[in-house]
Amino acid sequence: MQNGSSATGTIATGNAIPAGSYVGRFAPSPTGPLHFGSLLAAVASYLEARRRHGKWLVRIEDIDPPRERPGSIRDIFQALEAYGFEWDGEASLQSSNRDAQDAAVQILLDQGWAYRCGCSRRDLANQRQGKLGTIYPGNCRNGFGGGEFSVRVRTDDQPIVFEDLLQGPQSQSLESESGDFVILRRDGLIAYQLAVVVDDGLQSISEVVRGIDLMDSTARQIWLQRLLGYPTPSYMHIPVAVNSRGQKLSKSTGAAAIPVTEPRPVLLSALAALRQAPPADLDGGTLEEIWAWAFEFWNPAKLRGLRTIEAADFAMD
Ligand code: GLU
Repeated sequence: MQNGSSATGTIATGNAIPAGSYVGRFAPSPTGPLHFGSLLAAVASYLEARRRHGKWLVRIEDIDPPRERPGSIRDIFQALEAYGFEWDGEASLQSSNRDAQDAAVQILLDQGWAYRCGCSRRDLANQRQGKLGTIYPGNCRNGFGGGEFSVRVRTDDQPIVFEDLLQGPQSQSLESESGDFVILRRDGLIAYQLAVVVDDGLQSISEVVRGIDLMDSTARQIWLQRLLGYPTPSYMHIPVAVNSRGQKLSKSTGAAAIPVTEPRPVLLSALAALRQAPPADLDGGTLEEIWAWAFEFWNPAKLRGLRTIEAADFAMD
C-alpha cells in the first residue's frame, strides 16, 4: 500500500528520552462516551507510542464525580476495544491514586509551597481574568481566616518555557497569568493539575500527547513537577476537533459518541483528520490492515502548527 506522506519532515524524538523507555498514555475523563475529538487524541497518542517502540497506557481520570456520567467508563472501554486499541498492562483509575495525590499536597503544604485559601468563587468574582481564568491575587498567601478552604500552590514569575513537539516554543509566567492555583479543591476533590502530575510521574510517562486545549495547563504541570521532583515529559499537543461553529467537540457542545458497530470508516476518518492521508485502497481493509498501515506510516510532523480540525470535513460533526 502507498504511503501518502509528503515532504513535511519528521519529528525524531522528544527531549532526552532514552531508547526503549518511551511511555505514553491516553487519559480520558469519564464525562461521556468517546467522541471524534477524543478518538483523535487516542489515535495520536497510540501511534506515537508505537512509532517510538514504547508503552501506551490508558488511565481513566475519574477524579471529578460531579462531572462524570454513569456508564462512561464502560462506554470508553467498549469503544477502545471495538477500534482495536491495545494498551499495555491494566488500565488504571486516577481515583485509585488518591493517597499519593494527597501525599503530594501534604508535601507542598509542609514545605511552605502550598497554603490554605479561604476565598470562595464569590470572593474572587471581581478579580482580573486572564486566559487561564481568574488570576488569583494572593489574598490568603499569608494566612486565611478559617472555615472551608482550598489549597493553592505558590507561583512566581520566572517564565516556564517548553518546546512543544508540534506547536513550537511556549512560555508562561504563572504568577501574572494564573496566580497561585488550586491543587486541592474546596469540595475536597483533588484538582486536575495536581492529579495529572502525580499520576504521570508515578507512571513514568515520558511523553504527553493530547489536545491543544490542554496546552495552557502545561506550564502549571511543569511547575508542579519541579516542586515535587518529577521529571518533565516532552509534550505534543495535537489540534482539537471543532464543530462547524468553531467549538471544541465535547459533551457540552453535543458531540456524538463514535459508533462502535462499524469502526473502520471512522478510524480512517480519524487518520485523515490527523493529516495522514490513508490511501483509498484501505477503504475495504480490515481493522488490522488499517492499523498496520498507520503503524508503518504515522508521521506527526504533518500536524505541525495545526491548531484545529473541522470535524464536519470528516462527517463527524
Ligand atoms: N482527562 C483529560 C481530558 O479528558 C485529559 C488529561 C490529559 O491528557 O492530561 O480532557
